[in-house]
Amino acid sequence: MVLVSADIEARPALVVIDPGHGGYDRGGMPGQVLPEKPFTLDTAKRLAQALKADGIKVVLTRNADYYVSLGARTSIANAYAGYNAVFVSIHFNSGRRIGAYGIETYYNNSRAYRLAALIHPRVIQALGSIDRGIRHRGYFVLRRNRLPAVLVECGFLTNPVEAARIVTPGARENLAKAIAAGIERY
Ligand code: ZN
Repeated sequence: MVLVSADIEARPALVVIDPGHGGYDRGGMPGQVLPEKPFTLDTAKRLAQALKADGIKVVLTRNADYYVSLGARTSIANAYAGYNAVFVSIHFNSGRRIGAYGIETYYNNSRAYRLAALIHPRVIQALGSIDRGIRHRGYFVLRRNRLPAVLVECGFLTNPVEAARIVTPGARENLAKAIAAGIERY
């Protein structure tokens, strides 16, 4: 019982959820048929619901289809530095090669690596996809972030098989629940 209460206390109290792109920034490659922005927003909202249902506070860097700069996104996150908070950015991938598919998770520091390692395998399982690695990369929203920050590339919209899953609301619900489950074990 002690372990259970310790687990609950160890969870983040607040999650800054960052739906990639928005407004004139559709996301993806030029001319890409399926833009990222509606799917990142929908997944973020589902993730917010899942976390709130489990008593975790959430802040979204955008909650509708408008543009938010990368600086504004990190400013929102950094307002919660010192809280027990983490940052999770939601994206979908694109590739010049139509066959490219799989899940990639990026992180900004060793604390965030632990978060990435909890989320990554659960996303792979939720989408029935493959592991393209947990990687350190200096993306702006990670590099300038004072919270443990991860960016999840939740599959390729340029791959017909993976895109067919991503456009399915039930699959995005499973995806959001998988991300929430990873966060709640952090
Ligand atoms: Zn993106």
